Amino acid sequence: MKQYVYNFSEGNKQMRNLLGGKGANLAEMTQIGLPVPPGFTITTEACNQYFGDNNSINETIREQIDKAVVQLESLVNKQFDGSPCLLVSVRSGAVFSMPGMMDTILNLGLNDESVEIMGESTQSMCFALDCYRRFIQMYGSVVLEIPMYHFESLLEDCKEKYQLKSDQELQEGHLTELIKNYKKIVLKETGSEFEQSPKNQLYAAIEAVFRSWNNERAKIYRQLNNIPDEVGTAVNVQMMVFGNMGDSSGTGVVFTRNPSSGEKVLFGEFLMNAQGEDVVAGIRTPKPVGELEQIDKAAYDQLVNSAELLETHYSDMQDIEFTIETGSFYILQTRNGKRSAAAAIKIAIDFVEAGILDQEGAVAQLDLSQIDQLLHPVFDHDKLQAADVLATGLPASPGAATGQIFFDARSAEKANSEGLEVLLVRMETSPEDIQGMISSRGILTARGGMTSHAAVVARGMGKCCVSGCSALEINESARTVRIGDQVLKEGDYLSIDGSTGKVYLDKIETISTNLNADFTKIMSWADTLSRLTVLANADTPHDAQKSIEFGARGIGLCRTEHMFFDGNRIMDIREMIMAKTDTGRKAALAKLYPYQKEDFKGIFKAMRTLPVNIRLLDPPLHEFLPKSKTEMQEMADVLSLTYSEIEKVAEELTEVNPMMGLRGCRLGLTYPEIYEMQSRAIITAALEVQAEYEFTPTPEIMIPLVGNEVELSELRVLVADVISALDPEKKLGNVKIGTMIEVPRACMVAEKIAHHADYFSFGTNDLTQMALGYSRDDAGTFIRKYKERKVLEADPFQKIDREGVGELVRMAIDKGKKQVPGLKVGVCGEHGGDADSVAFFNTLDIDYVSCSPFRIPTARLAAAQAALSQKALDSSKI
Ligand code: ADP
Ligand code: MG
Ligand code: MG
Repeated sequence: MKQYVYNFSEGNKQMRNLLGGKGANLAEMTQIGLPVPPGFTITTEACNQYFGDNNSINETIREQIDKAVVQLESLVNKQFDGSPCLLVSVRSGAVFSMPGMMDTILNLGLNDESVEIMGESTQSMCFALDCYRRFIQMYGSVVLEIPMYHFESLLEDCKEKYQLKSDQELQEGHLTELIKNYKKIVLKETGSEFEQSPKNQLYAAIEAVFRSWNNERAKIYRQLNNIPDEVGTAVNVQMMVFGNMGDSSGTGVVFTRNPSSGEKVLFGEFLMNAQGEDVVAGIRTPKPVGELEQIDKAAYDQLVNSAELLETHYSDMQDIEFTIETGSFYILQTRNGKRSAAAAIKIAIDFVEAGILDQEGAVAQLDLSQIDQLLHPVFDHDKLQAADVLATGLPASPGAATGQIFFDARSAEKANSEGLEVLLVRMETSPEDIQGMISSRGILTARGGMTSHAAVVARGMGKCCVSGCSALEINESARTVRIGDQVLKEGDYLSIDGSTGKVYLDKIETISTNLNADFTKIMSWADTLSRLTVLANADTPHDAQKSIEFGARGIGLCRTEHMFFDGNRIMDIREMIMAKTDTGRKAALAKLYPYQKEDFKGIFKAMRTLPVNIRLLDPPLHEFLPKSKTEMQEMADVLSLTYSEIEKVAEELTEVNPMMGLRGCRLGLTYPEIYEMQSRAIITAALEVQAEYEFTPTPEIMIPLVGNEVELSELRVLVADVISALDPEKKLGNVKIGTMIEVPRACMVAEKIAHHADYFSFGTNDLTQMALGYSRDDAGTFIRKYKERKVLEADPFQKIDREGVGELVRMAIDKGKKQVPGLKVGVCGEHGGDADSVAFFNTLDIDYVSCSPFRIPTARLAAAQAALSQKALDSSKI
């Protein structure tokens, strides 16, 4: 017969799926000899059986519960309905802690008779009556579903009538009267008397826990967190111990280390003469746990020892509930404690130094989603509590920013130069806005998804960004934005949280965090465990420097176009676009050449001998043209052209679908002089750096958007010719020429393409866009809908679509490596910085992932954790 009920002495922490988190840990603590009040757990399987049997507890389970009650009675020498009388708590306990599940019921087993017996045996009628009134209240609200305010208002009435200031002052007479009134409410609301049989109370409570698995709050929580509905919850039934039995009793909660700093001190609170929830309920102000030492030294010492034991046993920092009943110490719960990112790292290192964990364990234990916290400013927690959330957009780039709002790049730049804190608010951004973005603390856009221009550029800059916030109604000419019923004008304050997507009214203070020696240490451990190398997407010497600080092993994607937006350069590239002849175009390119060369030199200097993979010009040319009339006129003046000439070219270049237009290698083949100039700048820069310093840079040249082998073979010849002309003696060694794989066709014909490529770099942003047919810039709106309706599980621009895009990647690697066995393979889309996607790439034959500098630490840790789980998986197969 299947076992549905386990005594605490039968279970252990491995049985989490069956006993739930709380139950498994209560059993484990019992096993290792800690003072846990005895009890038993009804399994998650019993919960599912209950639903299977039309919401009823079947005979088998009922018998097992009855048997467990008898065993408990004889173990503790107390009886339901007897003397001394047994009281229990009934506690829900899912596999993962789940808010929205049923509340705990304490003091179950009391009735009109046993309350008298208990009053006599403890010589405190007041204590017994207080337990009874708490029980009726909890049972009434949780099991009988009578709204809590009925009980609360009766309690208030009573205190008012007798002029009592707190619950503590309730005397025997008051309590007796209160209980009578509580029971009247029960009768009125349910039509029946308050249940007097402890057994029936117990069954009803157990069923209420089971039922709460399917209440709305719990269901929504499961949906949000991808917890399957079939898991079910366990129920724990445990002998009560009383923290409210007078001044030598008490209750508290404690973290074994400081959860903000990680410092090794007990951190928590307690209350004397109080029961369970009083500490968190805020009825009285609890005392810091250190003060327990003066009040009850023996209990305090037991707490310290238990904390130590539990930490070592679980190899993790613990969050513990304890109760003292007239001097006897009990532990009621333990679980891994929540902590800040900085604390998590300190704790992991301290555990390794104390020999509790090894390096693998420490790396595996870190919470990936927290690493970002370390790199960006965050809102001051207390101040945030008081702030109003105005709207929510996409959490496009983490961090927190507060500032005065400006609606265009120029005003943002100007305001910043005047010393204001600026927040750039735009419909969407474009490359023209770069300077404005640099001048802002954060960027808020009304349109665009997780890989929109604003999102990608902001992440690259490590700047906070909320994109696709559709609640914004921006009126650029009036210089206002309406959000709901608030209208804000230029210069008003807003605050945005790029980690949650929330937009707040007013100014909220931010605090910055710092990378310290602990961080560096744990990251270096991570690197030794990883199989994938992590490179950076970096376009400037400054980004290159940042990426080195964050531990990148090279640059996996250097986009050359961003260099063209700086200052005057934009005019030179515009001149090139406007050129009517090849000679004119070459003349304009000649002006750009020195800029490019200097930028490359700066990047090579920062990266020294590490690889720097440079992508030749990719975006459609019209991106470089001005959009507004004043700017077009300005451009006409600078280039001595007429306004209409500019307008004409702009019209000619306008494409219905620029993402699929004249860009990438198509541009290179149409205007070969562009790629020729860029290659020359790269190779010359590398040679000059080599001559000036004693190291040899490692440039790599990458051709974008190839879908056809001829595109690559022709451009390869062009680039190779430049290299051999400039570096005939191969002072730079064999400069690699590779290609991006970002057009689905390239995946299909990867063996042909591999023939001409020294490496493949998967541009998974474009590949996702083209494979799914979702525009990166417009997908925000429907992707949100799709997620709500469960058409999509996640945004494919954030998390790689394993089944679709992922399969294309796998296929292209297989085909490519069949042709060229040692072919180097990497990923340089935004997915390279997403932990789930990194875990997927780790399963493929890929050498590196590349991501924006601020995502490098997350990617490094993700790569290590992916390798560790792979290792665990492999060894479990053997
Ligand atoms: P939660 O998951 O909300 O913490 P718990 O089941 O842990 O719910 O219990 C709520 C409170 O009741 C806690 O303070 C806990 O310590 C206390 N409690 C639970 N069971 C007992 C018991 N058998 N004796 C005394 N206090 C208990
Ligand atoms: Mg608890
Ligand atoms: Mg691309």
